[in-house]
Amino acid sequence: MLQHSPPNFLRATNLQEQMRGMTHGAHCCLVYESPEQQWAAILPFITAGLMHNEVCAYITDDRSILEVRHALQAHGVDVDAHVRRKALTFMTKREAYLSGGSFSPSGMISFLGDTVRQAAANGFSGFRVTGEMTWALGRECGCEDVVEYEALLNDFFPGSRSLAVCQYNRQRFSAELIRDVLRTHPVAILGDQLCSNLFYETPAMVLGRESAEQRVDWMMHQLRHFRAAEENLERAVQGRDDFLGVASHELNTPLTALKLQVQGLQRLLTQRAPGPEQEDPKLIRALGRTDRQMRRLSKLVSDLLDVSRINARQLTLRHEAVDLQELVEEAVESASDELSPLSVPFSVQPGTPLIGLWDRSRLEQAVTNLLSNALKYGRGRPVRVRVFPHEDKAFLEVEDWGIGLRPEDRSRIFERFERAISSSEISGLGLGLFITREIARAHGGTVDVTSTLGEGSTFTLKLPIIPPSPLTQA
Ligand code: ADP
Repeated sequence: MLQHSPPNFLRATNLQEQMRGMTHGAHCCLVYESPEQQWAAILPFITAGLMHNEVCAYITDDRSILEVRHALQAHGVDVDAHVRRKALTFMTKREAYLSGGSFSPSGMISFLGDTVRQAAANGFSGFRVTGEMTWALGRECGCEDVVEYEALLNDFFPGSRSLAVCQYNRQRFSAELIRDVLRTHPVAILGDQLCSNLFYETPAMVLGRESAEQRVDWMMHQLRHFRAAEENLERAVQGRDDFLGVASHELNTPLTALKLQVQGLQRLLTQRAPGPEQEDPKLIRALGRTDRQMRRLSKLVSDLLDVSRINARQLTLRHEAVDLQELVEEAVESASDELSPLSVPFSVQPGTPLIGLWDRSRLEQAVTNLLSNALKYGRGRPVRVRVFPHEDKAFLEVEDWGIGLRPEDRSRIFERFERAISSSEISGLGLGLFITREIARAHGGTVDVTSTLGEGSTFTLKLPIIPPSPLTQA
């Protein structure tokens, strides 16, 4: 029968969860390049087995049994207790693969079968095994035997109450062997990823027993299978976009009503208290706080709405003559107001009017995003803002001396929901720069950044002074 629809555990997002979610029948290879990668996969694999009341066997070779025991203990496993109740065993290659004196793939598979039956007879729910395959580099066995063994395991594991992770240290094995390892395991663990293996071949194929007809069937099956996975992904992204659109619209309606009510309350309060002596300072402060939180919420919802508009390619512009210098000065002023009573570190370089045909409110939004980021990530240090023309473009530079960016984050942060800092440090949705870039693009312009980690960043918005015609705007 042709393998394989993706097992459920592949849907979990991080390796630890995926390893814990592995179920009977799985046959995985772990191709690792460092001890960290090895332990990151193996420790959750073993602890999950112990939790599910399975017998767990670790066949050592590259490491000593003592080393493996220590790693498990450091991971919180009470090794002695599990060994006493025979739920955890450690074996060397001589006790496992070479127990009959030399290695025989079929002999090893019947040894596994016996072990699975024995585990069930002793009241365990199954058997899981992991082996360090470096033993195969010894003289006792040829690499063809290992490949044959790995291929035959794919007839053994499916349907059995057992599962395995075969460990291959990439530095110790030849590329030829790793290639065959990747042909013989339906699932591969690489670094922190558990991958449904595109290169997996059935035992008959690996052992050269398949017909051309069977190979064609397999190739077509693989093509359909991976196309189906792509389609699932596309559907998931579409589902998220649809949800975003509906949710932001639905949130916007009560929010607008709420905003009007707060404004009404503020008006009522000033009407009731014609003189300062009748004012209730606590109430005024409370309403001021409510108003600020409402604005924050409003900004988040309108960012989400913009993202769904951008997804639906509905970001339309209303061009008019706009003075960028004046617009920036006003944006700086209102950003400064928002921050009062903090001392605001903006300095805008004086300049002459710089007039272009742009969408005023979209441009205000882009400029405000850059200014508020400079404040948010600027560590309270001054921010320098400069507007100037260069060739046929208008430039806006926002320069801060804040936290800066790592080189690998500099282009990623312009994508939606991408952030270079965790939400526990500074909160945000990761949409401001995405929206800014889309506004710049809609105008035929660009936004980019130069930055040094720990020293600061300069974001530059470049806009054509005359908008490009729709034909030139690809
Ligand atoms: P948000 O601020 O909500 O996370 P943005 O899209 O505006 O969303 O920014 C994306 C990410 O880019 C931020 O999370 C931050 O890591 C980084 N970033 C933006 N502006 C700056 C800046 N001036 N200095 C350093 N990092 C910045």
